[in-house]
Amino acid sequence: MKKTINLLLLSVLFIHCDAHATRVSSMIKDEFSTLLNVTKRYFSHSYSKDDKIGIIGAGPSGVSSALFLSDKGYKNIKVFEKERELGGKCLTITKKDSMGITKNYELGAEYIPYHYYTVHDLCKRVNQETMESPRIKVIGQNGNFIEPLSSEKLYKLIPALYRYLKLTNKYIDIINTPHNVGLKNYPELTMSSRDIIEKYNLNPLKDLFLVKQFGYGDLDDFPALSLFRTVHRDVALRIIADKIPLANKFIKRPIASISMDGTQGLYKRIANLIKKSLPEEEVFFLNQNIKKIYKNGDSLNIESIDGDTNLQRTFVFDKLIFAVPPKELIHYKIFENQDEELIREIQYKKYFVGLLEVEKNKLPRSYFQNLMPKKIEPLQFTKRWVDSTVIARGYNFDVFQENDSKKIREDVEKEFSVFMKDRMSIGYNIIGDQNILWSTYYPHVALKAYQEGIFDQLEGLQGKNNMFYTGSFWSFECMEQAINHSKYLISKNF
Ligand SMILES: Cc1cc2nc3c(=O)[nH]c(=O)nc-3n(C[C@H](O)[C@H](O)[C@H](O)COP(=O)(O)OP(=O)(O)OC[C@H]3O[C@@H](n4cnc5c(N)ncnc54)[C@H](O)[C@@H]3O)c2cc1C
Repeated sequence: MKKTINLLLLSVLFIHCDAHATRVSSMIKDEFSTLLNVTKRYFSHSYSKDDKIGIIGAGPSGVSSALFLSDKGYKNIKVFEKERELGGKCLTITKKDSMGITKNYELGAEYIPYHYYTVHDLCKRVNQETMESPRIKVIGQNGNFIEPLSSEKLYKLIPALYRYLKLTNKYIDIINTPHNVGLKNYPELTMSSRDIIEKYNLNPLKDLFLVKQFGYGDLDDFPALSLFRTVHRDVALRIIADKIPLANKFIKRPIASISMDGTQGLYKRIANLIKKSLPEEEVFFLNQNIKKIYKNGDSLNIESIDGDTNLQRTFVFDKLIFAVPPKELIHYKIFENQDEELIREIQYKKYFVGLLEVEKNKLPRSYFQNLMPKKIEPLQFTKRWVDSTVIARGYNFDVFQENDSKKIREDVEKEFSVFMKDRMSIGYNIIGDQNILWSTYYPHVALKAYQEGIFDQLEGLQGKNNMFYTGSFWSFECMEQAINHSKYLISKNF
């Protein structure tokens, strides 16, 4: 037993140092030979810093693409966003609770784990303050709170953690790569998560594999690579360090941070930075209804109507970067038939987030995961602030048909009430108007498509007709991967 712990500590030290070394190299280093072939074919286009670049979508991918372009010296950049605010699936709202305390809450992305180096760097660059995130607690059968992994025997837990670290360390460059090109060469990474858990006997770690809770679906359909990106090697390391007193010496940062003034604020700050560096230009066009995208000679034209003024304008570009969920592009008819078929293979989940108020002091500040979610039970909820009574709850709406939303709402509320009142003994009030149903959550493809290398084909679209694509669909639904893909795209092609 002692030997195992020593071994583990050594590996903790080794992998921890290694994490820093691989941080930048894994971004730039192209592990995939197929990518080279594709890029040779399509990236022979010319480029100049005077090119007019249009970016469609102002979520993390679009806003960061604009930043990386302006860092490179591009001056003619315009970003189009259909909503009134930028940020995409990073959406922060402010709410006064019944005690009169006003705070911000997240209806989208919240957690910035330790290993999200690019997001942390951007936070520093725009002076976005962060603080330690609420710790994860899991909810047991009786509605009691449990520390994740605490019910597992140490002699089973530690070897399983060791196996997990070894496995994720083996694939760390690919885990950190912000695209899935070349994946068919790594069969273990495209196995289902259920199979990889069985293969390496990782069952003792089941409390960490919160796939259903995060709204990603089932372990059977979730590729091992996505599991490794959800429970990143460096997160697993932090968790071990939390469990073993000596290993605490290596902790420099919390497992995850949150942004003090809200995740969306990061993207607003980045947008301000870009506006300052391009004072002559109007860069961000919000509340835009893009009617048409078409080729006109060597140029690419966008026809857009401004939602505030109803003014219709045509913008002319040399290149376009699409930073939107690809399904949003189908109706613009910009794809050839076989390319459109590829785009249609990208699927999404529906994920609901809403706010409610609970009885005072009933919940500690924490991030709660329901370990036994039924069909429509809330899968997770977050108490973001210690002194507020407002919590955010989230659950997967994927199992429902779109057309019976009233019935769904009633069923959800009934089950939720049982869950909170009977199982957890907590009284609550729904704050009805503060919610959102995301319909482009967790872009992914079927397991078979990962195995057959669909991303190699998608990569073939890059640069075709001077159009480029970025966004979390290239690898995994999180800010770090989305932004790193933009960074990678710009550094390679612009
Ligand atoms: C509930 C929830 C919780 C999450 N939690 C986390 C977390 O804790 N940590 C984390 O790292 N990530 C988290 N994520 C994921 C993260 O938010 C996404 O990975 C990230 O926002 C993806 O960025 P993106 O720019 O690729 O896409 P998006 O954020 O989807 O942005 C796309 C943008 O394009 C715009 N758009 C779409 N169509 C058009 C059009 N026709 N014209 C103009 N604009 C258009 C959209 O309005 C949107 O602003 C969470 C997401 C959700 C929904």
